[in-house]
Amino acid sequence: MNALEHQLQYPYGEQMPAPGTRQEVAPGVWWLRMPLPFALDHINLWLVRDRIEGRDGWTVIDCGITDDTIKTHWETIFANGLDGLPVLRVLVTHCHPDHVGLAHWLCERWGVRLWMSLGDYMSARVMGGGNGVGSNAGGDFAASHFARHGLNDPDSLEKLRARRSYYSTLVPALPTQYRRLMEGDIVVMGDDPAASRWRVITGFGHAPEHVALFNAERQVLISGDMVLPRISTNVSVFDMEPEANPLALYLSSLRRYEELPEATLVLPSHGRPFRNLHTRLRQLHEHHAERLAETLEACAGKPCSAHDIVGVMFRRQFDIHQMTFAMGEALAHLHLLWHDGRLQRQTDDDGVIRFRAA
Ligand SMILES: [Zn+2]
Repeated sequence: MNALEHQLQYPYGEQMPAPGTRQEVAPGVWWLRMPLPFALDHINLWLVRDRIEGRDGWTVIDCGITDDTIKTHWETIFANGLDGLPVLRVLVTHCHPDHVGLAHWLCERWGVRLWMSLGDYMSARVMGGGNGVGSNAGGDFAASHFARHGLNDPDSLEKLRARRSYYSTLVPALPTQYRRLMEGDIVVMGDDPAASRWRVITGFGHAPEHVALFNAERQVLISGDMVLPRISTNVSVFDMEPEANPLALYLSSLRRYEELPEATLVLPSHGRPFRNLHTRLRQLHEHHAERLAETLEACAGKPCSAHDIVGVMFRRQFDIHQMTFAMGEALAHLHLLWHDGRLQRQTDDDGVIRFRAA
């Protein structure tokens, strides 16, 4: 949790939309909140008033997980929250289940196209592919990846292996066609020429090719998971890319938002809409600098596995779901220091990878 949250400004205070209702946060931009069955208990989705090929309607940004309760909330929105107009497009910021889960259902229900980056569309297809590989969060490959990094007690490994269907349960299908979003693309949403242009800003380190959208006229940023007010964005090394350096990618991606005006209203996927973007970016850089310093210090004392660093970094108990994120996060910090040459990485006789001062 962000101990410096009071430095941010929340223009709507504690006011937020109940599931199945909407709240306007900028002209033509509406906030929806859907429940999630995790420690992170909600996701924000956005409705943007749109006009495509002469038809009035809405663009939906992000979807929620596949779940009957969420579908019911969506049906309530369709009935009461769209001013009698159709959904014209579904745009998804990245491939994580809470964002892309119901895209298949929404696109089919309205007969509309999914817009997404290549990196995240293809990743979603691979992770949901049902080929037994499972996702980064569970299955045999994930279990051996975490075991190599010190999470090797039989109970945890069994739980990790049992999660092989984690992704495909929450994302059982994906539209077989999509429209590609790329860095710098302008997505026109709405028919007011002065205020309808949303620029794609891609970001890395959290997802393969995360899409955020910035509207310069309205000074609104739909930040997805790249900039969140209350929690820090998860940045993990997963089994598919075991030598990855995602924290370096994430920190350099954050620089892209420093170019945006200080007055920008940030619409994040978790937490509440906020202002003081530059303050939040500074907080995030400081947060990771502190974690890098404590990681380096721990490894200077004795060689540490990622599992050892979880104990240093978090000092609390996790369920297996949170543990996969904590392990990934610890490893992301270790790998930044390793790629920088400040730590050495070595597989010890017990098969566990440990990091020591270079
Ligand atoms: Zn995410």
